[in-house]
Amino acid sequence: MALVRYHCAICGESIDDGSQFDPCGVSIFSNLNKHESEQLEQMFFCHYECFKGSLEPGVREYLNFEDQK
Ligand SMILES: [Zn+2]
Repeated sequence: MALVRYHCAICGESIDDGSQFDPCGVSIFSNLNKHESEQLEQMFFCHYECFKGSLEPGVREYLNFEDQK
């Protein structure tokens, strides 16, 4: 049993250890067009499949962890 429990930021369910890529983390960066000192970063936990499903289909093609294994 894992000591740390992860909850998916997209579906709200807990993330179990069973899948091939989970738990995943998604980072968001603010102000990418500004100087680094003005940028902020925060990471959220999620299921790989939830993140993949949230992407627009044309972008989803670029998420290819399956092909990198
Ligand atoms: Zn999820």
